[in-house]
Amino acid sequence: MINLSNGSDRCWATLTNDVFMSPFLSEEQCGSLLYAIKNQPGNSGNTLDNPNNMHEYGAILHDPDLRAWIDELANTTLRETIQEKFPGMPGHYFSSHHSFITSYSKDANQDLSLHVDASHITLNICLENQAQGADLIFTGTRCRHHVDTLPDDPMTRLTFRAGDAVLHVGNQRHFVTDLESGSRTNLVIWMRLEGAAYDHANPWVVKRCPICQ
Ligand SMILES: [Zn+2]
Repeated sequence: MINLSNGSDRCWATLTNDVFMSPFLSEEQCGSLLYAIKNQPGNSGNTLDNPNNMHEYGAILHDPDLRAWIDELANTTLRETIQEKFPGMPGHYFSSHHSFITSYSKDANQDLSLHVDASHITLNICLENQAQGADLIFTGTRCRHHVDTLPDDPMTRLTFRAGDAVLHVGNQRHFVTDLESGSRTNLVIWMRLEGAAYDHANPWVVKRCPICQ
């Protein structure tokens, strides 16, 4: 599998509250990872299964080697970065993850509406991008009770380059703008802490909600 250093040499830029970005994979690593995911044992050649109720086009990572690689990413490679960037989490061991590929193209998703993730921390890595549009917009961290309140002003827009990764708390609201042309493919990893429900009403999440402060 792809070898990643422990991340001390990466510089995660702060995009807004609870959202950090860094160049993460080389073009070659993006290609190998996408190939490995598309050719997971058991894939029937149709990778367009349904990873969750929002991304109609994508593929879930089910191969044990790929899943072990993600575990290492979450619990070793990114451990220090996550501890530093997201203080106050009720633990640092991610006992499970839901990981999937999501694709934007004229034959796949065209956009994605405003939502929060079923995760404590999300890692979103762009594997290829020749798209115009399909930008990722963050509208602010909110607890469950304030998830429908007004967006942060200004909102935060991210145009991915292949290899870029963004790391954010699950309750940082986001959506994807209309695709104008081309295609973009990302690997999205929803990391879940051991023994803590990913309930956006829990105290750790509420503490990050500006309306509750
Ligand atoms: Zn709140």
